[in-house]
Amino acid sequence: MNLRKTVLAGLLLSPLWAMANMPVVASFSILADITREVGGERVSVVSLVGADQDAHVFQPKPADVKKLAEAKVFVANGLGFEGWISRLSKSANFKGVTVTASNGIKPLAAAEEDGHDHADGHDHGRADPHAWHNPQYVMRYVDTIAAGLTKADAAGASYYRARAEAYKLRVKELDGWASAQFAAVPQARRKVLTSHDAFAYLGARYQIRFMAPQGVSTDAEASAKSVAQLIRQVKKEQVKAVFIENMSDRRLIDQLAKEAGAKVGGKLYSDALSAQPGGRTYLEMFHSNVMALSQSM
Ligand code: ZN
Repeated sequence: MNLRKTVLAGLLLSPLWAMANMPVVASFSILADITREVGGERVSVVSLVGADQDAHVFQPKPADVKKLAEAKVFVANGLGFEGWISRLSKSANFKGVTVTASNGIKPLAAAEEDGHDHADGHDHGRADPHAWHNPQYVMRYVDTIAAGLTKADAAGASYYRARAEAYKLRVKELDGWASAQFAAVPQARRKVLTSHDAFAYLGARYQIRFMAPQGVSTDAEASAKSVAQLIRQVKKEQVKAVFIENMSDRRLIDQLAKEAGAKVGGKLYSDALSAQPGGRTYLEMFHSNVMALSQSM
């Protein structure tokens, strides 16, 4: 058979989706990875916010509007993580399936960022969006994403279901391993300083206390007063684990560590995957974070 005939035969034998994968847009790199795991060969996923980039302060460009306009499914985190999505969806006139991956998850409330107490017990209603740092929640993300892909591509239902179940097993295994790693660390040492409040879900899952000069978003500067307070706290509690984040400016943490007499112990993957080995997928980044944390505490 000559080459042309081989190619033609191949095309005729392939199901339609193998020629044109369903275009899917994910808001940021971690979701893009999870969506690829679920969607496999039936989808073609692009991420709006790339590796080592900060989704909190992302500003969509015309090229991003075009990507979304051409997509059948848009996977976003929700919980206020992507403050820019509704405007983007409108600009793109997006009519496909929007999947809010955190759907059904009861969010942790963001810690007070302005330092004053509310006697009547109200909060500012700001949710902590970083739910992917709890693997149990990621298993729910996976189910929600599988349902969303199926909504747009019903023929793939069993394919997505099978891939979702297989991936959830790997996430569950990672969670079990992480629990065992942290179990070896005495409770009194489970204290970590990092750039922004991205790890409350991880902290709640494995009983670790995280401190950070910036709140749940990186869009506001830390105040001089809260930085000074944090330095005192780090000294007093003898926090040993101090980390920079792969998508944040490290200068503030360097300064804090210096003034508190602590040493920066390495890098955590917070809101983005990385081009570096150890951070290229969700499973890799979570594994790296657990190793870095458990060793430094
Ligand atoms: Zn964040």
